[in-house]
Amino acid sequence: MRQKLVAGNWKMNGSFDLLKSLLEPVSQEKGLSCQLLVCPPFPYLAAAADLLKSSGVFLGAQDCAATPVGAYTGEVAAEMLAEMGVSHVILGHSERRHYQAEGDALVLAKVKQALAAGLKPVVCVGETLEEKQAGQTAEVVLRQVQAVATQLSSEQLGQLIFAYEPVWAIGSGLTATPDQAQEVHSLIRKALAEQDQQQAARIQLLYGGSVKAENAASLFAMPDIDGGLIGGASLNASQFLAIGHAA
Ligand code: PGA
Repeated sequence: MRQKLVAGNWKMNGSFDLLKSLLEPVSQEKGLSCQLLVCPPFPYLAAAADLLKSSGVFLGAQDCAATPVGAYTGEVAAEMLAEMGVSHVILGHSERRHYQAEGDALVLAKVKQALAAGLKPVVCVGETLEEKQAGQTAEVVLRQVQAVATQLSSEQLGQLIFAYEPVWAIGSGLTATPDQAQEVHSLIRKALAEQDQQQAARIQLLYGGSVKAENAASLFAMPDIDGGLIGGASLNASQFLAIGHAA
């Protein structure tokens, strides 16, 4: 009943050349049963919206401001993204939690702005290698999930997507095994179900961290893994589409 979603997180990569060479084949691909989402950096969103027009491929941003429009130099408001044709926004990515020191409270504030603008937040959660080695995976992940989920109405909760991305698996070539990932996804869904059973059954839970065409099918076959958030492999059209076909 949950459709699979394959989302590309370009991070701070790209150019107009890449945009064209990637989005043309992606927007023309036929026969995919999953939803596709691409999240290029802010400067490329307008051109991407144009290239994806009437393709059915969703467009996402990688962040938004924690406040509505106003005197916040350098920030980009969720409502501006919505006006550009953006439908999703990645929030709380581990790179932002790490390099920009984003904490749970800031992530929640951004989620609220995104929801108010009608965007679907893709909320990223995941433990570091040290936390994993200290046996704190469940504690860390559930804290990050609940810091957002428990502060929302049932209707708002139903708009969320969560991405479980173990920090040690991002860009490292190390992937969680399908069983490891499924175990955490199932914990997340159970925690959401304690809050709202109906919404928990509908929410898409993505896995991220070194997903490639070769490992995607076995990850996506797990009952609580509803697709992937793809970094490196989303910068290559044939890899990205192969992952889409694995979903
Ligand atoms: P990766 O990145 O696929 O390059 O590991 C995933 C992510 O950070 O979203």
